[in-house]
Amino acid sequence: MIIVLNRDATQQDIDHIITKVKEVGLEPHVSVGVEKTIIGVVGDDDKMINVPVESFKGVEQVIRVTKPYKLASRDFHPHNTIIDIGTVRIGSEELAIMAGPCSVETREQITLIAKEVKKYGANVLRGGAFKPRTSPYSFQGLGKEGLELLKYAKEQTGLPIVTEVLDPRDVELVESYADILQIGTRNAQNFPLLKEVGRTRKPVLLKRGLAMRVDEWLLSAEYIMSGGNYNVILCERGIRTFETATRNTLDINIIPVLKERTHLPVVIDPSHATGKAKYVPSMALAAVAAGADGLIIEVHNDPENAWSDGDQSITPEQFRDLMIKIREIAQIVGRKIPEPSSVA
Ligand code: PEP
Ligand code: MN
Repeated sequence: MIIVLNRDATQQDIDHIITKVKEVGLEPHVSVGVEKTIIGVVGDDDKMINVPVESFKGVEQVIRVTKPYKLASRDFHPHNTIIDIGTVRIGSEELAIMAGPCSVETREQITLIAKEVKKYGANVLRGGAFKPRTSPYSFQGLGKEGLELLKYAKEQTGLPIVTEVLDPRDVELVESYADILQIGTRNAQNFPLLKEVGRTRKPVLLKRGLAMRVDEWLLSAEYIMSGGNYNVILCERGIRTFETATRNTLDINIIPVLKERTHLPVVIDPSHATGKAKYVPSMALAAVAAGADGLIIEVHNDPENAWSDGDQSITPEQFRDLMIKIREIAQIVGRKIPEPSSVA
């Protein structure tokens, strides 16, 4: 249920509604907008049957949301959510450009790549310290040491960090280093992990599961949001289809679909979607043209010898050339990208 308050509603009116909602054992989530305040009531709406909320002072309208997800829905939050991480306001007109290696390998590797991508206009550094590998015999990531190296690269460049957390037991550790917690494809329906990141207030980049429909994806976002963490960024990274020419199939359709259904920012990962470096630029440009709020791109200084995902990693020079084109497309669709800069 969504309770829309009128402009004259006072704090007292809001508090009264919150008390009544809590009395019947439901959880109120208040969203204060520029024009209106909205209270989302999460849980079984039937419990509100004897609460005459329509007649409460300050209430303009009560909407019974039939969608299974509520806090993630546009009904609850008509304006786009903007998540401020210092270098960029994700979901605003400026695009979030997250770039970096699949895995953090060495201090030299992550620092060099961080400086390069920053120079060409990236505003977030990506890098995995805990890696979700299909085979248990593949490199599993440097763990805490990788987080330390990311911290070093952040100190050198000022770029905030997005890095994956795989295990609910590691959330506290990864949270202490990351600016954005990444939930990977394979964990998109790991509900204990989603609840755990929902208890933090750290922005979460929630990747779409390999075979996840949009409703299921938004329900995963709802798991995080119902814990009180509204800072969710959705990341499409390709889904599994019958097509094997590319690693996955980038579902570009999902961009306008998500924009209609949810207020959460949408980021596209053309690297895992295509699995091949040569296809990454086309899909990155298509994503920006289709209205994505950002990109997350794997960049490696030596893709041939990368410890993971070398095939899909572009070089810093390719990233530089791509950013020139992204800038042009961004302008056409009324978006901005960060100016190139250099770091010492
Ligand atoms: C990654 O970002 O390196 C990664 C493992 O992504 P995904 O979960 O999309 O496979
Ligand atoms: Mn990867």
